[in-house]
Amino acid sequence: MPKAGFKSITVSEVVYNKFHDVYKKNRQELAMKGINSFAGYIKNRIAEVAIQNGELYCMLCEEKDCFHIGFVFSLPDVYEVLNARGIKHQR
Ligand SMILES: [Zn+2]
Repeated sequence: MPKAGFKSITVSEVVYNKFHDVYKKNRQELAMKGINSFAGYIKNRIAEVAIQNGELYCMLCEEKDCFHIGFVFSLPDVYEVLNARGIKHQR
């Protein structure tokens, strides 16, 4: 159970490992921005990606092609669903 005032989230191992890798690689840069923990990093990375006019749109960046969109397309399950709906990655 998380400490009082904290919430826990569950992500798949693939997702966890992917973010953890990025976090480890950027640790020094993130520390300069005041992000000193993996949990802090993850909280800053939660973005809402919606489908608008048949394209993915990131609500956090207000962009159609950002890290989050790329990440969504990197998840095989999600990619399959998007592909079936005719939604393609812009890049
Ligand atoms: Zn984004």
